[in-house]
Amino acid sequence: MRGLMMDRPLLIGALIQYAAEYHGDTEIVSRTTEGPIHRYSYVDAERRARQLAKALKRLGVERGDRVATIAWNTHRHFELYFAVSGMGAVCHTINPRLFGEQLRYIVNHAEDKLLFLDLTFVPIAEKMAAEWPGLRHYVIMTDRAQMPETSLPGALCYEDLVGGESSEFVWPEFDENTASSLCYTSGTTGNPKGALYTHRSTLLHSFAVCSANAVGISMRDSILPVVPMFHVNAWGIPYAAAMSGAKLVFPGPKLDGASLHELFTSEKVTLSCGVPTVWLGLLQYLDQTGKRLDGLTRVTVGGSAAPRAMIEAFEERYGVQCIHGWGMTEMSPVGTLALPKAKHLDRPMAEQLAIKARQGFPLFGIDMKVVAPDGRVLPHDGKSSGELYVRGPWIIGAYYDDEEATAAAFDAEGWFRTGDVCVIDPDGYMIIVDRSKDVIKSGGEWISSIDLENAAMGHPEVAEAAVIGLPHPKWDERPLLIVVPKAGHQPSKESITAFLGDKIARWQLPDDVVFVAELPHGGTGKVLKTRLREQFRDYRLPTI
Ligand code: ADP
Repeated sequence: MRGLMMDRPLLIGALIQYAAEYHGDTEIVSRTTEGPIHRYSYVDAERRARQLAKALKRLGVERGDRVATIAWNTHRHFELYFAVSGMGAVCHTINPRLFGEQLRYIVNHAEDKLLFLDLTFVPIAEKMAAEWPGLRHYVIMTDRAQMPETSLPGALCYEDLVGGESSEFVWPEFDENTASSLCYTSGTTGNPKGALYTHRSTLLHSFAVCSANAVGISMRDSILPVVPMFHVNAWGIPYAAAMSGAKLVFPGPKLDGASLHELFTSEKVTLSCGVPTVWLGLLQYLDQTGKRLDGLTRVTVGGSAAPRAMIEAFEERYGVQCIHGWGMTEMSPVGTLALPKAKHLDRPMAEQLAIKARQGFPLFGIDMKVVAPDGRVLPHDGKSSGELYVRGPWIIGAYYDDEEATAAAFDAEGWFRTGDVCVIDPDGYMIIVDRSKDVIKSGGEWISSIDLENAAMGHPEVAEAAVIGLPHPKWDERPLLIVVPKAGHQPSKESITAFLGDKIARWQLPDDVVFVAELPHGGTGKVLKTRLREQFRDYRLPTI
């Protein structure tokens, strides 16, 4: 028997319409690429998104066309998110930190028609333009007065486009499974792969992210997403904020500790989201200046494992709840979050911290299974580690126009293969052991590079740490620990090994420790292990 409820589509246009109607005077504040702070409201943003949608139509954009952006987190990028998807086209966000070859590939593979770009990225586009023959227009996201001299063919001015249109536009209705946005994974090997989200997947992901077992976003929040809108839709925060009527504070290009702290204070930010490297920068700034984080109630951290010391610093020193999460571009991206359950709240602080340092339990909608190399599905016993497979309504069912990558990514039952090795404990908390390609295989056992890195980052003189496996004639591979000391410190090898001694099993301790000024980071802020492996290819461990 079919039920008798309305079949109304879940659409991104409706999100911004709702925000304008019921939270119209809620502010959206941006540090602009040009420098000054810009502020307006959801009513203004929605009106300008309608004007922009009309401008896109005038430029020949039709439903299903891909419209690319290379831009910081600002109000203009926010308008693009809603104008492009809302009119039925596909908002293709591009990560400017990708290499030239990757940029060439994804714009051509996506067959982007238009490219909107911030002033900062004009030089990148100028360098690439000859390799992007399909792009019909470049739109520079600034006003007439700030338009630069550029070799980009027929460059248009964003404010002229928006200002030249009336707002007489009605958000159209269409099938909720229509493609809404596109994001390529940075792919350390092979070509980048496209995750093509739908209106439905985006809205379901937003409901989940807003819920209280997740980040618990409400209209009383003021949210500063440090995670970039040029990668996995800033973890869905722009949509989740519109859905809940939360104030948005966009940091523009300035992501250093001092600039973030200034906005946290002036805009009474309650929630902020970022990768560990961003929070390392902020915590160092707080350390140096003695400043506090008044008003901020929670931060989320993901993209790479959050070191326990970071969670402890936020919670114990600054009184800010630190929510560790895990996800992937292919998962919109949020899959799990590590909030403690009621029964954990009266446990000793050290135990609670250990729970918060896990990657977390899944949001409703995400199914997880752990699979052994021989294909056996492993129990959730906190001990059995294997590769993590997932499925759910905001996880890709295929890569965009890439049969080869798609064939490799799913099992016979349609589960998506994450490439992460994990265990799941009896309470349902998932713990990432490693990326399957980063785990160190020593004498038939696995050593987690993440565990070693996290432990090393608890050392008071260590700013950042990375572990790679180097070939070893007896053990196959053994770990090398690479350390960036904190500014003004010179820790010794011995002090680090001694520090790790009571935290890590003896056979898992690194065979050597080396010090470097900085680690190579990829387009999404993660340490580039491939680069480190190349860099230390000829390094000889003292244990050989
Ligand atoms: P994003 O681009 O959103 O950072 P990617 O799709 O590039 O995501 O990378 C996803 C991978 O990042 C995951 O498969 C996992 O290996 C790693 N990752 C993400 N969050 C965490 C986390 N909290 N702890 C450990 N690894 C993580």
